Amino acid sequence: MHNEIIIIGGGASALMLASLLPKNSATVIEHNAEPGAKILISGGGKCNITNVVMGSEYYVGKSTFVQSALDLFDEKALLKWLQSRQLRPVLKKNHQYFCSQSAKELLDVFLKEGKKQKMFLGENVTNVSKRGAFFSVRTDKRTLNAKYVVVASGGLSFPKLGASPIGYEIAASFGHKIKRTAPALVGFTVQKEQFFFKALSGVSTEVEIKVADQYCKGSLLFTHKGISGPAILDASLYWEKGKIEVDFLPNFAWESIQKSKKQLSSLLPMPKRVTKAFLVQLNLDDKQGVKITQEELCLLQTLNHYSFAPAGTFGYAKAEVTKGGICTNEVHADSMMSKKTEGLYFTGEVLDVTGRLGGYNFQWAFSSAYACANSIKKYL
Ligand SMILES: Cc1cc2nc3c(=O)[nH]c(=O)nc-3n(C[C@H](O)[C@H](O)[C@H](O)COP(=O)(O)OP(=O)(O)OC[C@H]3O[C@@H](n4cnc5c(N)ncnc54)[C@H](O)[C@@H]3O)c2cc1C
Repeated sequence: MHNEIIIIGGGASALMLASLLPKNSATVIEHNAEPGAKILISGGGKCNITNVVMGSEYYVGKSTFVQSALDLFDEKALLKWLQSRQLRPVLKKNHQYFCSQSAKELLDVFLKEGKKQKMFLGENVTNVSKRGAFFSVRTDKRTLNAKYVVVASGGLSFPKLGASPIGYEIAASFGHKIKRTAPALVGFTVQKEQFFFKALSGVSTEVEIKVADQYCKGSLLFTHKGISGPAILDASLYWEKGKIEVDFLPNFAWESIQKSKKQLSSLLPMPKRVTKAFLVQLNLDDKQGVKITQEELCLLQTLNHYSFAPAGTFGYAKAEVTKGGICTNEVHADSMMSKKTEGLYFTGEVLDVTGRLGGYNFQWAFSSAYACANSIKKYL
């Protein structure tokens, strides 16, 4: 059986690609019973589709490679494309675009568009090889031949939603290098010096984190396993090993503190429970600001650069994305085609491109799919 294009995976990137390709030109193979599982649970069920503030600086990966795909299909082009299909994402938190009611709105757009392609669901791709001009795609049900193969099988995060290493295995079998993968946009477990964090489970506070020369601002959430929340998730993108530095009191004006008659737990702009826990750690009493000595003030100011090494992360089971992946210097930036094998393409998270929190990963899935569709359409 000959197909023009086989798309491996039925996630965000594959569904956008299937929508962009001419009718009846592609077959999508997805091993879940339904496509787009991650879309449905993303962004707290409302899917953070993209971001007003877009650019390669919000990604970990080769910036020229990322920018090239974003330039072809950026957030404005994506919004226009969605609007022409009656989906009008709403702006929240100043710069993030979400579905107005539920992530299903986005999936429905793709399911409607996707009708123009064949979709094999509940079918697991096991291997891809190439002989002459044709690829052979083996699944647990059959072998299919195609002129073009697009690997859009995602990363390793959330295995319960179908994540598998097949994309990396296929790439490696065609001689591609894979950058070491790790869970990202994920919480940190802590070492015993920070076990006191666990008693604060459920409390969140505003912080600024410095990690590997990057700054991540936002909420830090204490959990029973360690720490999470938007600022920590972003920090996990840059963290390899070793210490991170958390400013628990960003922009706090210390000058006035020694003039105040309020207790420290009321003075410091953190939830009282957090302040009290840190006071215990610093061996300080919850005294009035006017009563603190210069030495005690210096101790308190260490909270502006509280440095510690996380024990690890919560792992792939909890990670929103996988960092690392197929090395992009072996992939054409304008088309996502392999530089090693003509007709073989990679799109989405399987590549070594990972965005920050805020809709950047779906934008990448869609922009890379667009670049790929543009290239394949020229050959058809
Ligand atoms: C909890 C959570 C929330 C998230 N929220 C957001 C958000 O709000 N905004 C944002 O930008 N990003 C978010 N992300 C990240 C985003 O979902 C991914 O980056 C994006 O889905 C990647 O798209 P993809 O198509 O490359 O991979 P995926 O969407 O992972 O799709 C890959 C598909 O391939 C299938 N597959 C794998 N192996 C095989 C095989 N052997 N045979 C057949 N099929 C196979 C999988 O089942 C899957 O359906 C979130 C992720 C998670 C886990």
